[in-house]
Amino acid sequence: MDGPSGARENLQGLCGPCNRAKTAVRLGPMSPDQLAVRSAFVVRVEARSPARACDDDVGWNDLQPQLLERIRAWWSSALPTEYLGRVEFAPDGRPVIIEPASSDDRGR
Ligand SMILES: [Zn+2]
Repeated sequence: MDGPSGARENLQGLCGPCNRAKTAVRLGPMSPDQLAVRSAFVVRVEARSPARACDDDVGWNDLQPQLLERIRAWWSSALPTEYLGRVEFAPDGRPVIIEPASSDDRGR
């Protein structure tokens, strides 16, 4: 049992006191990098208006699909011709190359 993984082999049944004792052993001061990440997160959580478009839980549902479509269009326009028709997009907008073009069908 090590770290926050929820994988089955990483799980252990503990009563409340044992769970708290095991957790306390692992607690320690945050590193400067961890503090910076935490501070940036707290600023976003406590902001009166969304700091980023994706922090807007109302507007983001409308905006996200539009941005994704723009990303897909940009990727399609930026791809070398040998990859045209060979790329799909992951749910997060990342392009996924289905198969690399073979050298004998370049330039189509
Ligand atoms: Zn116990």
